[in-house]
Amino acid sequence: MARARAHDPTAGPAVGNVRHVTPSFELDQDHLDLRTWVHDFAAEVVRPAAAEWDEREEFPWPVVEEAAKVGLYSVDFIVTQALDETGLGFPITMEELFWGDAGIGLSIVGTSLAAAGVRANGTDEQVAEWIPAMYGAPGDLKLGAFCSSEPDAGSDVGAMRTRATYDEAGDEWVLNGTKTWATNGGIADVHVVTAVVDPELRTRGQASFVVPPGTKGLSQGQKFHKHGIRASHTAEVVLDQVRVPGRCLLGGKEKLDARLARAREGASSKAGSNASMATFERTRPAVGAQAIGIARAAYEVALDYARTREQFGKPIIENQAIAFSLADMATSIEASRLLVWRAAWMARQGKRFEQAEGSMSKLFAGETAVRVTGQAMQILGGNGFTREYPVERMARDARIYTIFEGTSEIQRLVIARSISGAPIR
Ligand SMILES: Cc1cc2nc3c(=O)[nH]c(=O)nc-3n(C[C@H](O)[C@H](O)[C@H](O)COP(=O)(O)OP(=O)(O)OC[C@H]3O[C@@H](n4cnc5c(N)ncnc54)[C@H](O)[C@@H]3O)c2cc1C
Repeated sequence: MARARAHDPTAGPAVGNVRHVTPSFELDQDHLDLRTWVHDFAAEVVRPAAAEWDEREEFPWPVVEEAAKVGLYSVDFIVTQALDETGLGFPITMEELFWGDAGIGLSIVGTSLAAAGVRANGTDEQVAEWIPAMYGAPGDLKLGAFCSSEPDAGSDVGAMRTRATYDEAGDEWVLNGTKTWATNGGIADVHVVTAVVDPELRTRGQASFVVPPGTKGLSQGQKFHKHGIRASHTAEVVLDQVRVPGRCLLGGKEKLDARLARAREGASSKAGSNASMATFERTRPAVGAQAIGIARAAYEVALDYARTREQFGKPIIENQAIAFSLADMATSIEASRLLVWRAAWMARQGKRFEQAEGSMSKLFAGETAVRVTGQAMQILGGNGFTREYPVERMARDARIYTIFEGTSEIQRLVIARSISGAPIR
């Protein structure tokens, strides 16, 4: 079964040297098993807890603990999926989990964004040290947080102000600044923080650092009360004279110095050399898959409701207006999945994203989730507007998918630049 393939967690995800694999439109048995397994967990554990944790607006520790017990919240699971040659393991997992609930889903997968930050920029030794430290074990859960956004640097990553200075005497980096919107920020054990090492080089003068558990000077700022995904913890992270050992610079000092030297000489930066962008590029299709999970959940509720709710002496689905709305919902969910799966496969196979296919998949799936959940509310009429039915929560949750991991406008900017080559602003 896909989740159970043996792996040595200390070895780190060996994602290089990928065999060329062409995906089939038919899932193989491993993927079907994976889908059933995650779906069952989502149906039996996640969905029944969704309304409660949404109301409480608290991190759902007991549910994440359950995910750890079954192996869904574990290093082994993410490594197994990262090794999946088709790249489909993550999107399948995300869709099913977020079908259960997006707030809880993000609480379970939030750590993987920090893990992706380490994987994108870290050495094999750093991957082997820090990713297990982010997950812990059942009964002793740990969390990771990826902290890039700042109050004045959201879409404009180049405006980042958090500063990292090197103290040569102690071989330490000193971090100062304020990060915002960090999923698991302040409650995480391991924080992955992007910071400026050379302000003149803008995005090319940035690097990523691991802040180990219990490091002095790191504290949680404001915790945000949100419109949706309310079980997921989102907060500011304040860094005040945070000192981390030299080995916490992801990729190491030698590599950083060489990169900075190239940037100062004006040599063109390789794709992915920007610390934050490298992380986002890898994670976009999986984020699109989360949006599909929400959209599918709302669509299923609406389809069921339309079959049973009667007005004017017949089920409302027998009105073309309702049936066509459902037809559009189903079609855009299927189209989103094709875009997401293709982009995930391309990423895993190391294909070039000539037309920003990763961004296309996140843009389309995110906007589909907002539209479809809105249509579902409409089909449920007054009931869709109440918390007695889950589509109201799903519509609130879906809204984040046009905002985080790059807003829809930024995805369009990336796509427009890719297809045109023009310096569009
Ligand atoms: C719940 C939640 C969780 C998050 N989790 C994380 C996390 O774990 N780690 C992390 O680092 N960040 C996280 N983020 C931050 C998220 O990625 C940012 O909110 C997002 O990138 C947008 O930045 P901003 O909010 O500063 O908006 P801004 O960048 O200020 O944008 C405001 C508006 O202007 C538009 N805009 C900006 N520039 C342009 C342009 N050039 N052309 C056209 N339109 C433009 C935007 O599209 C948007 O509509 C999270 C955010 C939220 C809300």
